[in-house]
Amino acid sequence: MIIAANWKMNLGQAEGAILIQGLNMHADRWSDISIVICPPAPYLLAMRDIAHSEFHIGGQTCHGKLFGAHTGHVSAAMLADCGADYVIIGHSERRQSDGESGSVLLEQAKCAIDAGLRIIYCVGETLEDRQAGRESEVVSGQLADIQDLLNSGDVPVIAYEPVWAIGTGQVASVPDIEAMHNFIKSETSRIMGASDMPQILYGGSVKPDNAEAILSIRSVDGALIGGASLDADGFATICDYAQKVSR
Ligand code: PEP
Repeated sequence: MIIAANWKMNLGQAEGAILIQGLNMHADRWSDISIVICPPAPYLLAMRDIAHSEFHIGGQTCHGKLFGAHTGHVSAAMLADCGADYVIIGHSERRQSDGESGSVLLEQAKCAIDAGLRIIYCVGETLEDRQAGRESEVVSGQLADIQDLLNSGDVPVIAYEPVWAIGTGQVASVPDIEAMHNFIKSETSRIMGASDMPQILYGGSVKPDNAEAILSIRSVDGALIGGASLDADGFATICDYAQKVSR
């Protein structure tokens, strides 16, 4: 099971360090799960330096080119150089506010793989899509965008994040999460064959008070957590549930 923390553009370096130190002291309790911490890019190296050696560090995105004249961007190789071994690709906030299309995301994903990073590829429908009953069609299209990658045998982690549940306090219901995760499993096994199934995380307002119910769903392999990852105690509680259901 993977529990990933997406800090987004939050916390200064000192606050991030305090949060990580708060998690470090519990790390021995979480031997059966993978913890991935995705701080803002300028803090990757500093957070890698202080994080428990069992914790993974991840980027929140990377550029779709290996290097060059791309002012303000960060390449996958640079993330890896700073000690990252994961990167989030296709978060809905980047799809929406940075206009990242499927073809852009595929380029990013390929660069990430080339740099030796493990991808957490986000998919998920908007409220409008769900109300129109289009959620499977949308997610299937987002998976098709990275079909080349899936066909090449590189197994990403997939995060199902219904856009309407991100940062809103609204959570998808247990049957809806189960149905979508099963759908994603069947789509990816159709594309890749059943040998290497991706792990599928749920993301969208996961909090200490709903984490046990969500993480206990059989098709849920972990969680991608935004807001609740900014509080060491709350995040530790979620990790404890993940450890409990992983046993
Ligand atoms: C996210 O940003 O990926 C996310 C799931 O955020 P939150 O947990 O705040 O809904």
